[in-house]
Amino acid sequence: MTTRIAIVGGGTAGLAAAYELEKARAAGAAVGYTLFEERPRLGGSLASEIVNGAVLERGPDSFLTEKPAAAELCRELGLGSDLIPSNDAARKTYIVVRNRLVALPDGLMFLVPTKLVPTALTPLFSFPTKIRMALELLHPPRPAAGDEPVAALVERHFGREAVDRLADPLLSGIYGGDATQLSAQTVLTRMVDMERQYGSLTRGMLAAHRKMRAMAKTSSKTRSGGAAIFTALRGGMQQLVDAAVARLDPASVRIGTPARAIMRTGKGWSVEAGESRQDFDALIVATPAWAAAALLGPADAALSEELSGIPYSSSITINLVYDEAKIGTLPEGFGFLVPAVEGRSMLACTFVHRKFLGRTPPGKAVFRAFLGGMRGGALLAESDEALLATVRREMTEILGAKIFPAAVEPEHAQVTRWRRAMAQYAVGHKQRIERINARVAALPGLRLVGNAYDGIGVPDCIRLGRKAARELAAASAPAAAPMV
Ligand SMILES: Cc1cc2nc3c(=O)[nH]c(=O)nc-3n(C[C@H](O)[C@H](O)[C@H](O)COP(=O)(O)OP(=O)(O)OC[C@H]3O[C@@H](n4cnc5c(N)ncnc54)[C@H](O)[C@@H]3O)c2cc1C
Repeated sequence: MTTRIAIVGGGTAGLAAAYELEKARAAGAAVGYTLFEERPRLGGSLASEIVNGAVLERGPDSFLTEKPAAAELCRELGLGSDLIPSNDAARKTYIVVRNRLVALPDGLMFLVPTKLVPTALTPLFSFPTKIRMALELLHPPRPAAGDEPVAALVERHFGREAVDRLADPLLSGIYGGDATQLSAQTVLTRMVDMERQYGSLTRGMLAAHRKMRAMAKTSSKTRSGGAAIFTALRGGMQQLVDAAVARLDPASVRIGTPARAIMRTGKGWSVEAGESRQDFDALIVATPAWAAAALLGPADAALSEELSGIPYSSSITINLVYDEAKIGTLPEGFGFLVPAVEGRSMLACTFVHRKFLGRTPPGKAVFRAFLGGMRGGALLAESDEALLATVRREMTEILGAKIFPAAVEPEHAQVTRWRRAMAQYAVGHKQRIERINARVAALPGLRLVGNAYDGIGVPDCIRLGRKAARELAAASAPAAAPMV
């Protein structure tokens, strides 16, 4: 008998799950699937287009190279030769400090300064903060305690300025979140462990660095082998979506079809979507957690409550294409981050033509601005024109009128709103996920996948989606042997 599996949500995780089930089916497993996606397209936040030769990413532009799941999927889909590294030779990131771009000091390992001279010389921190950073080496080990906000951990070691000028902008660049709410245990797991073991995060980072260098000497397959920090697709993330969709059985895909209700049946699950109601043996819910909460309420009210407790942030991306000849020379690097204390709408800006080479035509500059995050939800209601005007004004104020003249019009501008798209790993997230996992384990055939659970990035969502599909396919009976 064929095991019928419903996938609800066709974003990164749901698409990866569908691909995996299709692969299992093609290999002879007795599985069938139906993928329900409410929007008219698959891919969720993976969305890019090519405008006059420039790759414009509406959502993610790349993935972390050290997390292999995304590149692996790309290779399986025949996109191996389109994987391109970030241009790390030009990697430099700035923090906006009172309208000035200040480069992150050399030796900064994520949030931890590890080099004395660059830290002593940087204008990013005041003198008292620098003294505090030096004294951090003397922090005694701290016994395990409960979860706390990232801001509390960073402030304890490096002071408030390090929260405002480092933790806040770096984390809002990754999570669209707020350092006073994000969970140290989930988001900075390594640092929490280092604090327990070494006391000083600087000493912990240096020890980890020494270990990595020693491993690099004994292994040829390491970062020192030249892998870039980020990997992208030459033609944009849409390539991944198109290649995965091409592998699916069109009869198994229902776009523009939101699941409206999910019920448990005697043997499995029933999904009400579009005009019909269908029964399935197993169910992968790959929607955001808040949507999963609404759908799973009738099956398990406590699970639904846990899911609805996962906060989400919204964001806006704005791509601007300029004729390079009409603007000034940009500072070298990938772009800048804007701390919340600067009081701006922008959270960050990437110099796209610098970060990945070969995706922008010669003579053009592409800027990608991020707005929103936990504090900027109200911006979503503003018109495209108002948002564009805000970004152009702030870019001129930050980069200066010589580099970014206010009067020069972009050749192309594109605004994308992402409503409640990024899950926030708030304080207590790990414990919440343990409670969610316990409830899911008691509901046979159910899997929850997506960015709300075990990693926010594209590779994490792909890994979770494929794992869920593999598990359900493995639990199904093998296809009957042919009669002849
Ligand atoms: C602007 C932006 C930039 C990012 N940049 C990066 C980056 O550079 N690198 C990186 O690794 N990660 C990045 N991320 C994070 C990463 O892209 C996301 O976390 C990941 O793609 C989310 O995948 P998902 O499958 O969990 O959710 P989604 O992609 O949001 O998919 C969920 C899907 O469920 C559908 N759905 C909802 N309700 C229903 C329903 N009732 N019935 C049917 N379908 C439903 C939605 O329409 C959607 O398609 C970025 C995210 C954003 C928003």
